[in-house]
Amino acid sequence: MTTFERRTRRAQSRLDAAGADALALTPGRDCYYLTGVDAEASDRLQLLVVPVDGDPTFVVPTLEADSMTTWVHDVRTWDDETGPGPALDPLLDSLSPSRVLLADRMWVRFSLALRERLPDASFGLASEVLSPLRRRKDGRELDALRAAAEAADATMRDLRALGADAVGTTEADLAAYIEERLEANGGTGVAFETIVGAGANGADPHHASGEREIRAGEPVVLDFGTRVDAYPSDQTRTVVFDGEPSEEFRRVHDVVREAQSRAIAAVESGVTAGSVDRAAREVIEDAGYGDRFVHRTGHGVGLDVHEAPDIVAGNETKLEPGMVFSVEPGVYLPDRFGVRIEDLVVVTDDGGCERLNHTDRRWRG
Ligand code: ZN
Ligand code: ZN
Ligand code: ZN
Repeated sequence: MTTFERRTRRAQSRLDAAGADALALTPGRDCYYLTGVDAEASDRLQLLVVPVDGDPTFVVPTLEADSMTTWVHDVRTWDDETGPGPALDPLLDSLSPSRVLLADRMWVRFSLALRERLPDASFGLASEVLSPLRRRKDGRELDALRAAAEAADATMRDLRALGADAVGTTEADLAAYIEERLEANGGTGVAFETIVGAGANGADPHHASGEREIRAGEPVVLDFGTRVDAYPSDQTRTVVFDGEPSEEFRRVHDVVREAQSRAIAAVESGVTAGSVDRAAREVIEDAGYGDRFVHRTGHGVGLDVHEAPDIVAGNETKLEPGMVFSVEPGVYLPDRFGVRIEDLVVVTDDGGCERLNHTDRRWRG
């Protein structure tokens, strides 16, 4: 049995417990997770239907069928002249589901069409069944996440090696360099828009990159990721390439580093996600910067760069072995600078966690 089929069988056993008869997924991460089909949603309906018992079925446009490689054998095709009805209707009739879980990110036009075709059914979200599966990574997923983290770590080392050469280049130049190095270090593309925030731009947690020049003595927030075997990396360092930064920057950087290491030390199977957020936030509050830590401490990472579990106050989700998430406290002083330090960790079954990122966390390594 392939990994993809094994996941589908597990999802089926959870469908029953969720009181649902079928999953209906359009292309996206959930569909990939169960079938290995890496397609983009398009205006032509492509639908994976996973019934509670028996084998799943794909309904796809004829012109997509040949390029699909998957363990799912039952692939029914439709042509532009007829539309999906002749392929889809008999399938839905034979299943006549009373409760269907739809991909969370299905286009509204497809979800409305399914509701029209199944007027007596009720609907829910596929994440109800798939999120508890997806948030615990298996060995193959962890290997991909480690490899993606290594590609990012190698790129961070390349960046630091620039030293004084980075001064005078722009954020956009550095972003282009990062993206070239991510590929050279084994990654594919970027996992999200590369963030290079120099000086005051670093105070905007999601500043992408622009024409601002890197200056000596100024901190630069560097947050980027790539993908390996479909899985992303996501880590951040705040670096001073050359010259001497301000006293306050040094102090804030120490605080954020301490917050991050306390949060990582708090990661343990069985504790709540919220308690990891608390561990980081306490350090930053005690230092007087509590109101400048303006985001959650972290987010789950898997096929999606942001997925469950959120490492946020009030999240009572208990950490389980195999969960992977970021730990990324930050302090942002508007018009001055920002500091964020981010690593991915995986919860292990021996009462702690493994870091996926291993590069120096100091502002100058
Ligand atoms: Zn973010
Ligand atoms: Zn990040
Ligand atoms: Zn992140």
